[in-house]
Amino acid sequence: MRKFIHIDMDCFYAAVEMRDNPKLTNIPMAIGGNSHRGVLSTANYLAREYGVRSAMSNYQAKKLCPQLVIVPGRMAVYKAVSAQIRTIFTRYTQLIEPLSLDEAYLDVTDCGEFGGSATLIAQQIRADIERETGLTASAGIASIKFLAKIASDENKPNGQFVITPNEVHDFIDTLPLKKIPGVGKVTQQKLLALGFQYGCDIKASSEDFLYQRFGKFGLVLWRRCNGIDERQVETHRVRKSVGVETTFSEDTSDGEELTRRLIESLFPELTRRSQSYLQTRGMNKLGVKVKFFDFQSVSKECQYDSLNVEVLVALLQDLLVRYPNKPVRLIGINIGLIDAKNSQAQLGLFDCD
Ligand SMILES: [Mg+2]
Repeated sequence: MRKFIHIDMDCFYAAVEMRDNPKLTNIPMAIGGNSHRGVLSTANYLAREYGVRSAMSNYQAKKLCPQLVIVPGRMAVYKAVSAQIRTIFTRYTQLIEPLSLDEAYLDVTDCGEFGGSATLIAQQIRADIERETGLTASAGIASIKFLAKIASDENKPNGQFVITPNEVHDFIDTLPLKKIPGVGKVTQQKLLALGFQYGCDIKASSEDFLYQRFGKFGLVLWRRCNGIDERQVETHRVRKSVGVETTFSEDTSDGEELTRRLIESLFPELTRRSQSYLQTRGMNKLGVKVKFFDFQSVSKECQYDSLNVEVLVALLQDLLVRYPNKPVRLIGINIGLIDAKNSQAQLGLFDCD
C-alpha cells in the first residue's frame, strides 16, 4: 500500500499578495491577471464570502462585491515561492508530482521521518512551509491518489484531513460525485439525471452501464468509486500534445465561419504556443476537435510532421460533413509531440500540465 499526500496552498496568489502588502489582508481582494478578457485568477477568503470565484470576470466579481480590490498578478514571485515549496518537499521525498504552482502530489511511502506516519509528515511539511514562506497550506492524506486530493479540500484553509485505508469505502459512499477530479458541471448534470449523486450510487451500478453512458470516463468513475486508482506519482510528466480551442459566444453550424475561425485565430495561436516545444522536439500528428451544442464531442487526427493549416481545415471539414447543420459550440486544434523519453537531459525543460 502507498501513502500519498496532496499539498495545496491556500488561495495561493492572493495569499502571496496579502503577505507582501498587509493593507490587503482584511479586505476582499483578488488577482486580476493580465489577460485582456479580465478574468480573476484567485480571490481571498473574504472575497469568496461574496461569491467571488476564480475564473469569474472582473465585471461580474465587482457586481457581487463592489468594494473588491483587484491587483495584478506577479507571476515571477509566485514561481519563486513555488520553487521554495518544492525544495521543502524534497526533504521528505523525491516522488513529487507538481499539478500547478501551488499544488502537488507527494508519495511518502518510503519516507522514514516520524516513524513513517504520513499524517505527521504532512503536518511537518505544512509547518515548514508556514515558517519559511509565511504562507499556509492544506493537506490531504490517503492510500489512494485521487482521495488525497479530495481530502486536502476537507479542512481548508490551513488544515489537513486523513482518510485511513479502512475508512476508504465509507468515505466514498457519501462522497458527492462532483468532488471527484474530472467530474465537471456537464458530467455532474448527466450523472444526476441518471440518479447518480454519491459514490455509493456508482458502486451500485455496473461497469458496463457506465461505459455505455460515459465511455472511458465511466470506467474510471466506476473504478474510483470502488476505491481503485493504480496511478502513481508521476515525477516526469512530458507533454504529449499542444492544443488550443475556442468556445463561440453563440453556437454556429456555418462551415465557412468555422473554417475562417480555424485559419484566422486558432492556427496562429497554435503556431505561437507550439514554437518553444518544436525547437527541441518533433511532431507527428495534427488533430481537430469539435464540440456540438449538446456537448457531444468528436475528433479526428492524422499523422503529419509539421504544422499545416490546409490539413487541419480538411480534418475539420471531414468532421462537419458527418454532422450537417448541427450547431457547434467549440472547435479545437492540436499537434502530437514526439516523445522525448530517450533524452533525459531535456526533461527539465518542459512544462508540466
Ligand atoms: Mg490552491
